[in-house]
Amino acid sequence: MLIDIGANLTHKDFRNDVEQVIDDAIEVGVANIIVTGSTEQNSELAIELNEVRPDYLYSTAGVHPHQANEYRSVTSKHLNVICENESVVAVGECGLDFNRNYSSKKEQLYCFEAQLDLGTSIDMPLFFHERDAHSDFLNLIKQYRANMKSGVVHCFTGQQNELEAYLDLDLHIGITGWICDERRGKHLKELVSSIPLDRLMIETDAPYLLPRSLEPRPKSNRNEPKFLPKVCETISECLDVDYDHVAEQTTNTAKRFFDI
Ligand SMILES: [Zn+2]
Repeated sequence: MLIDIGANLTHKDFRNDVEQVIDDAIEVGVANIIVTGSTEQNSELAIELNEVRPDYLYSTAGVHPHQANEYRSVTSKHLNVICENESVVAVGECGLDFNRNYSSKKEQLYCFEAQLDLGTSIDMPLFFHERDAHSDFLNLIKQYRANMKSGVVHCFTGQQNELEAYLDLDLHIGITGWICDERRGKHLKELVSSIPLDRLMIETDAPYLLPRSLEPRPKSNRNEPKFLPKVCETISECLDVDYDHVAEQTTNTAKRFFDI
């Protein structure tokens, strides 16, 4: 059994067939899905979706750095209310993304700090997004780490020194189908062995990041939780251990991390 710790099931690409998408995931052994909240609105929508499949779907509540310019002082209060729902298991995704800068650096820092404040004040795990922003991200994490319950750097795609810095702070690491990419995932194939299995979790980031090595590839190019086994398989090949071992360990890690 596997746990997909990051799937954007409130995305419009799943509007017409989300129930089928969930059934297909169950069929291939995905035991739970953590639906990613990336705006106030879709964090709320995620709760409604969780109610359709209680004890199967869980979700996070947060504002993605791309949407940081929408963050107001009242947003933290709204997220706090959303987090009171039993099916919400982490604050986020939140963090910094200087790759595209859809929001300014200043807006991103404000939005991120507000969610670090929230997560630490209500003692919930944090679900992080970091891209091309390692040093600013690390500085903030260091400030908050002592009061933080736990945190996962989702969709980690960085370098060795970045990975080490996160592990040194006792953070968890999420690996997506990025690792299945022969070219841009090559370094991850080598790095993944540096992540202790009690710190490693797996995710699809669906509908994004369809594993490149998937065969056959769906015509739509849409990624789904049912393709999570490909991520687990690729990691098990990199580590040269059984698929079942990686599945069991990453699932246990996710259960402990999200307390599900
Ligand atoms: Zn992300």
